[in-house]
Amino acid sequence: MFLAAGLVKLALIRFTDCIMKLVEVALKVPLDRTFDYLVEGDHTHDILPGVRVIVPFGKRKLIGIVLALKSSTSLETEKLRAVEAFIDVKPIVSTAFIHLIRFCAKYYCYPLGDTLFSALPAALRQGEPLDKLVIHMLSATNAPTTPLRGKKQRALFDYLVENGNSPVCEIKALGFTQSQIDALEKKTLLNRFTAPSIPWTEQLWQLSQKPRLNQEQATACAAIKQSELFSCFLLEGVTGSGKTEVYLHALEDIIKTKKQALVLVPEIGLTPQTVQRFKRRFAGLPITLWHSNLTDNERLEVWRQSESNEIAMVIGTRSSIFLPFAHLGMIIVDEEHDSSFKQQEGLRYHARDLAAYRAAKLGIPLILGSATPALESLHHAISKKYHLLTLQHRAQTASANQFALVDMKGQIAQQGFANTTLNSMLDTLKRGKQVMVFLNRRGFAPTLICHECGWLSGCNRCTASTTYHKAIAQLVCHHCGDIRAIPKQCPDCGSTQIMPAGVGTEQIAEFFSTYFVDYPVIRIDRDTTRKKGALEDALDVIHQGGAKLLVGTQMLAKGHHFPDVALVVILDVDSGLYSSDFRATEHMAQLITQVSGRAGRSGEPGKVILQTHFPDHPLLQDLVNNGYQDFARFALTERQEADLPPYTYLALIRAQGQKFELVMQFLRDLVPEQRSSGIQLLGPLPAPMEKIAGKYRYQLHIQAESRSILHHYLAQLRDYMNTHPLTNRVRWSIDVDPIDMY
Ligand code: ADP
Ligand code: ZN
Ligand code: ZN
Repeated sequence: MFLAAGLVKLALIRFTDCIMKLVEVALKVPLDRTFDYLVEGDHTHDILPGVRVIVPFGKRKLIGIVLALKSSTSLETEKLRAVEAFIDVKPIVSTAFIHLIRFCAKYYCYPLGDTLFSALPAALRQGEPLDKLVIHMLSATNAPTTPLRGKKQRALFDYLVENGNSPVCEIKALGFTQSQIDALEKKTLLNRFTAPSIPWTEQLWQLSQKPRLNQEQATACAAIKQSELFSCFLLEGVTGSGKTEVYLHALEDIIKTKKQALVLVPEIGLTPQTVQRFKRRFAGLPITLWHSNLTDNERLEVWRQSESNEIAMVIGTRSSIFLPFAHLGMIIVDEEHDSSFKQQEGLRYHARDLAAYRAAKLGIPLILGSATPALESLHHAISKKYHLLTLQHRAQTASANQFALVDMKGQIAQQGFANTTLNSMLDTLKRGKQVMVFLNRRGFAPTLICHECGWLSGCNRCTASTTYHKAIAQLVCHHCGDIRAIPKQCPDCGSTQIMPAGVGTEQIAEFFSTYFVDYPVIRIDRDTTRKKGALEDALDVIHQGGAKLLVGTQMLAKGHHFPDVALVVILDVDSGLYSSDFRATEHMAQLITQVSGRAGRSGEPGKVILQTHFPDHPLLQDLVNNGYQDFARFALTERQEADLPPYTYLALIRAQGQKFELVMQFLRDLVPEQRSSGIQLLGPLPAPMEKIAGKYRYQLHIQAESRSILHHYLAQLRDYMNTHPLTNRVRWSIDVDPIDMY
């Protein structure tokens, strides 16, 4: 409809001769275009791209951002409306930022205005001034005269002593609360003051002692140091091989040239340990965190500081890739294979891939590090687009982990554990070591079953079973959040013989507390860590040896360093081996390797037990015998033979709606009669979860020979979808380079 109106009359009006000016404005509206507005009267001072304006839009007034000044428009004069007010004199975003946004919108097939507004912190979207606030800093004063009784207060005080001046938001990000801060302030152990607004390059900092690099690390650091302009390095190093040490060296070189750095970490990787390691190395250097728990004001402040060069380094999750650094000199993506770098709704960008774009545009080095690189990145490294740097050996132990596959076929298992597994666990515990058990399923049991008729507890609104949570005595759907009471009788046959089927982390922890009576258990999953600071507390308990058995979901898998874990048990390996998602084996291998990497990090080699019904599976065998590096290269040849990414290029059209027929009709209409060359269409197919919260979910897979063919095709398809009669009755989205078919 929109396009039609714009095309009625192509009246080109030239404004160059008169005093009026035209601006192209991006608005936060789900329309695939920008809007031209007039600038009248006394506003005709020097307008720069990147300033915010208030404009009329229909009957509303919206905040927009000027993208460009124009000299002509295709709109008729009488339809042109004028900018009502300018919010900023100085641009709040640079032209480089606008370029990044334009690229991002085009690449991910997302409306430009929406893309721009998704990237900005909320406070700027709402029209707040850039220098709205002052940031509050904390520092420790004299040592307490009497020992501090509160454990948390003591920890906070120690943190401040060790790390020096720290912004309040960082302290809170690390799990401390306002009341703990207030308590210390009351005892005059802590100072609160405003951060000085001076460039970080004028502040004092000091490099702390660092270990001597080993041969592999030195080679990697030398290669990075020698790089000129843009180069992308894939640092493939087994867990504990000293990748972080390589980052720290590379960062040191960049910081010394007075350039800023961005370190991207997965959502869950932002642990106090990681942060402290960076801050300790560069003592006194302004290093700031960026993560999903910041308030709007805190985000605004980090945004402003990165732009005004007041901070040297940001350690941040996904969306920190948009921060407007004044002098960015390096980007590091740690655990680059991690799927939390890809946003799974709205603007479905991949922070690692945008990092590659940004680094290339700026002509700066990019380091992607992982023990288990994504097959995409590995492919680039093998084809020499990226430089491959390898760390084969663990930095502190000589020995690699030993794997054992336990064949579960015909085994009588207790709560999912084979007897041999339980025996190995007991042996390890008796030696005073910790055991970690990993299962990616929280709750007590994944479903309830009726012993008489086979009824299974399922969600009415999703194609999923409901998980039995014993502690709260409820059935919870992990997909739509629906919660209901446990039925006393089977809804189908009336039997009272209803029992849990399968195991979840809650059940395992309960089982251990009776089976291994002498050894304390701790469970780490979303249910036990919901409260702020709970995860940090649990990690503390583990570090202090207060727990011997650690049970958890993938929260436990990532990044943490547990020196005393000598045995890792992984249950339920099999779901990754036979899945409809072609990435399932890659993800399974990454998970196994990452979880295993938690074992044997100091001294003795760790042991890893994998329970499986398919001990002879070739990919599993390859992984266990030859490691992820070998597995990944083998998996790549399989992808190539099957014409799958990274050898082809994939996009997904997802559609969902209450009415099955409409969803299907919409997707079917997208499949053309004629085949396009270089494009393969598959679908409509049901999503792996066909129904969530009462909505049917179907998808279309688009696979292309080349990226340009894919993007050309998607652009056409998008125009078509925008004008389709069902476009507003079916919720649809485009996912370019999807990593999760869900
Ligand atoms: P990764 O990031 O690959 O998991 P880390 O950088 O965390 O590995 O290193 C693992 C452990 O080895 C850490 O405790 C680290 O301090 C130590 N380490 C790393 N490099 C060296 C080195 N060159 N000399 C001594 N210890 C090192
Ligand atoms: Zn029944
Ligand atoms: Zn549900």
